[in-house]
Amino acid sequence: MANNLGLSESVLRNSMPEHELNSNNEFNQEEVKPRWGPQHAGAKELASQYTAGKRLQETVCVVLTIGLILYNCLQLILHFHVENWLVIFGAALLGIVTADFFSGVVHWGADSYGSVEGIIGKSFIRPFREHHIDPTSITRHDFIETNGDNFAVVLIPLLNMAYKFTTYSDEDIHKEYNWQMFIFLLAIFVSLTNQFHKWSHTYFGLPKWITTLQDLHIILPRKHHRIHHVAPHDTYFCITTGWLNLPMEKVGFWTKVEALIEYFTGHKPRVDDMKWAKKL
Ligand SMILES: [Zn+2]
Ligand SMILES: [Zn+2]
Repeated sequence: MANNLGLSESVLRNSMPEHELNSNNEFNQEEVKPRWGPQHAGAKELASQYTAGKRLQETVCVVLTIGLILYNCLQLILHFHVENWLVIFGAALLGIVTADFFSGVVHWGADSYGSVEGIIGKSFIRPFREHHIDPTSITRHDFIETNGDNFAVVLIPLLNMAYKFTTYSDEDIHKEYNWQMFIFLLAIFVSLTNQFHKWSHTYFGLPKWITTLQDLHIILPRKHHRIHHVAPHDTYFCITTGWLNLPMEKVGFWTKVEALIEYFTGHKPRVDDMKWAKKL
């Protein structure tokens, strides 16, 4: 029998068999074949909408953000006080958890509402629709396409930080140091979220150190993220580490927020997502 990664039968039946792409899984292929993958008509249409303009915007953001990360990292090292290590460790943990929460909110919002119409839709909602009907396409995206949007999100906060490090006195920097450390680590984890997400879909050829981080659940594990990829994609939205998924599921966080939105606006979640899923 195929390696089922310890996933439940319902998850295996209802998500793309990413770990067995030669279609040697134990279920009837007639039943699962047309529902996901690059041959899906909707996936082809969405993939074709990745434009040269979008590519340029992503490239500029990635280059600028990497420069700012290096500059701010250097400044944080230069102003580091060793007696601060416990607070810095706390800021790191808080940064990871906050990034995981943000990843959940953004992912949930883009999955559940909006459409691929207009500039915002084409640029920022399209990849989420494409990802559900072809979860393996992310593994074929290069570094720029994978990380462009997240690097764009952290660009302004990192620019603001660099401005402060450049213009503030040492005393003022010291006063704000812990806050800046939190923001820096938050920005790092936000910017790496889609890279962790890509690795959670990569079943072949990952280096041992990455699978070890996944197995230790320091970054998003593959088995954990497959739970999200079961239609109608209504749970486990956090994709940085996934630490918050179980507690948020336990309190019914997303269901409650969706009920509130529907009550006040009349918008039902994931209507557009379902429309793409049916486009065979
Ligand atoms: Zn999703
Ligand atoms: Zn995914």
